[in-house]
Amino acid sequence: MDLLILHFGRLEKNRLSIIHMPYKAILLCDFLAKNSIKASIFNAAAETANNKKFSLIGLIEKYDPEIIGLTLQWHSQMKGVFEASRRIKKKFPQKKIVVGGITASFFSRQILEKEKSIDYVIRGDAEIPALKLCRQIKSGKTDLKSIENISYRQAGRIYENPVKYKISRRIFNSLSYSSFSHILNIDSMLNVSNNFYVKVKNGVFYSPEPPKKRFFYIASRGCVFNCSYCSASAYHRLCGRTSPVYKSPETVCRDIKKLLSYGIENIYFPTFPDSFRENNFYTKLFKIFIRKNITFNCTIDCFHLPRPPFLEIFQRTFKNNLKDSHIVLSPDLLDEKKRKLNKGQLYSNRELFSFIYAAQKYGINVRLSLAAGLPFASRSDYSKTLLYAERLSSFSNLEITMNTIPIEPYSPLFLNPEKYKVKLKCKNFNDFLLKKPGELGYETDQLSERQIFQTISVFNRVMSRASEKFKKIDIKNIN
Ligand code: SF4
Repeated sequence: MDLLILHFGRLEKNRLSIIHMPYKAILLCDFLAKNSIKASIFNAAAETANNKKFSLIGLIEKYDPEIIGLTLQWHSQMKGVFEASRRIKKKFPQKKIVVGGITASFFSRQILEKEKSIDYVIRGDAEIPALKLCRQIKSGKTDLKSIENISYRQAGRIYENPVKYKISRRIFNSLSYSSFSHILNIDSMLNVSNNFYVKVKNGVFYSPEPPKKRFFYIASRGCVFNCSYCSASAYHRLCGRTSPVYKSPETVCRDIKKLLSYGIENIYFPTFPDSFRENNFYTKLFKIFIRKNITFNCTIDCFHLPRPPFLEIFQRTFKNNLKDSHIVLSPDLLDEKKRKLNKGQLYSNRELFSFIYAAQKYGINVRLSLAAGLPFASRSDYSKTLLYAERLSSFSNLEITMNTIPIEPYSPLFLNPEKYKVKLKCKNFNDFLLKKPGELGYETDQLSERQIFQTISVFNRVMSRASEKFKKIDIKNIN
């Protein structure tokens, strides 16, 4: 094996979170394999979540990769990733360690300055830079200057090569998420795939949700919006993307057909490349599913209100699976003015109401996700949101939740706190590294961190009274 990619989550006293790895790692392995580099993935977080013991050192001894890759997508992984990296380097000083992902891209210089066990950071898309890096390491060469997107240490200095590579549609189309042969512990991964975290009690791990094989299918990279708390927009600008790149509906369909043959029960689409005006991507994809008679339990995150024909084609495509299928919308706040200040989406509450009503007529379930602690939002904005949410709770097809959104590097509110009138508690690399679970890392000029969490408690209390089917989220946040 040339490259072994390891994924670590965040282990705390009572839970283990970030058990999903960034799924683009599968595409990376597929790309490398097509170019004669043998790469595999081991999801250490999923293995632990299944109560399976493994030895990190034993794993590396068994597969003996020349290069170890560590995913560093979310800042909450940092501690676990750095601990693993030090252990690996201590035992195998000759092996090269590379990290990649959103957080790694943002803190590339600080990581190389402070974590001597890490040799390289790949910033942005990884396919070509990782291929060139693996080839150089395997051939014993040290000409790193020519590798785009990488940061590295040489003779005590840190170099950051320009980010010039971004995935093309051609490469994206050529790669398959269903390349499960690259995943060493696929059973463990699928067994907890219906959960974002697992609970820990007396050293034993429990899944809050029953096992169901779910796959997060990321059909596009990039987003046309720029929500105040989300890292997507600035990260994709770093990657050099000016608009989303997406896989062709035909290749997605082929890939999904294979995923379903592995017993995947729910496909979750967390990205939505369609613009306001058109529902091109998913409409085309769903038409192919209908033609090929492919159906499954589908969950789809819509980044804005889809145009009316979307509901009709969604209903036709998943008509036999509607009970376990969902359209997810994230208006975040039911105050239109403040929503507009935080999100690019321009739909009104009236349009949202009409959409839920229409979805109900089609028998489609909708999940509405609200967020406490948005910049500019006052207590009274949340009172209005609560009143409106109570009214909406009479829809039989609707689930509403409210959660917090912890700070992320690359998010507009982190990059420009004055504009968003937030007070940052996490200001630099060290703050992110030391941030405790459940901490938000910021507060707004309207609400302190404590008041933000109180907003959720009030919401849960009132909504539990308003609707029997209301399910409150029992964690402070998913990070
Ligand atoms: S939260 Fe906003 S910016 Fe981030 S991916 Fe969703 S729509 Fe795009």
